[in-house]
Amino acid sequence: MADDDPSAAAPSFRRVVLKISGEGFIHAGERGIATDAVLHLARQTAAAAGHGVQMAVVIGGGNILRGAQFSANTSAVHEATAHYMGMLATVINGLALQDSLESLGCDTRLMTAMRIDGVAEPYIRRRARRHLEKGRIIILAAGTGSPFVTTDTAAAQRALELDADVLLKATRVDGVYSADPEKNPHAVLYSELSYDDVRRQNLRVMDPEAITKCMEYAMPILVFNFRKAGNIEAAVLGRRVGTLVHSAEALERAKTEQP
Ligand code: UDP
Repeated sequence: MADDDPSAAAPSFRRVVLKISGEGFIHAGERGIATDAVLHLARQTAAAAGHGVQMAVVIGGGNILRGAQFSANTSAVHEATAHYMGMLATVINGLALQDSLESLGCDTRLMTAMRIDGVAEPYIRRRARRHLEKGRIIILAAGTGSPFVTTDTAAAQRALELDADVLLKATRVDGVYSADPEKNPHAVLYSELSYDDVRRQNLRVMDPEAITKCMEYAMPILVFNFRKAGNIEAAVLGRRVGTLVHSAEALERAKTEQP
């Protein structure tokens, strides 16, 4: 390939965990699954993987069902059951993403934290690593397999156990803002933040448990807009997109290294 061919660019990361919420599987305000939205995600993910970065994709299920919301509206279903329903929703998304990626020629494996042997492999850490080493995109569904947490926590956990270089958190806005940009037009977009900034200011990045886990083990989090075509690719190539959340020390170093 020619040197100036953008598809030949080397990735900045060896291995990433990409967290895609259920909202990536629908258009704004809808529920269920929109096949064109899934194909958009698949194209972006495939383009990023094409640079040789190892990709593990953790899938949300909020487009179908969130356990806490569902159980708040009924006393007939135990909240734990509702969370298991939410985990199953992530498997539905995972199956749609898997086939969409394979329709683009990607080699994939769907792995679930709850056993659903007919359609997916059980998540086994060493096997997951092996798939990644072989260049397969792994799709990790059913969260952690335990109720009362979210797929953000699952993403943080998988990023740590798979030794990812970064946790890429795909959202529908451009990064982390001082206030909700969909409600406040004066909200400021941050380019970098420390974990403490996020916690002190109660900024919307990921669930508090996920932030705490990433902070404890200095796992960087890049929050960016997945709706903009090319952003997942840009993120794995280390181009400046979205907001980078990392340790106060890393933040300080980045400041002193700036020209
Ligand atoms: N869930 C769970 N345990 C997990 C991950 C998810 O119980 O480890 C349930 C929980 O009810 C959650 C739902 O699955 O609301 C769907 O996941 P999530 O809300 O994280 O989806 P997203 O907001 O990312 O679309």
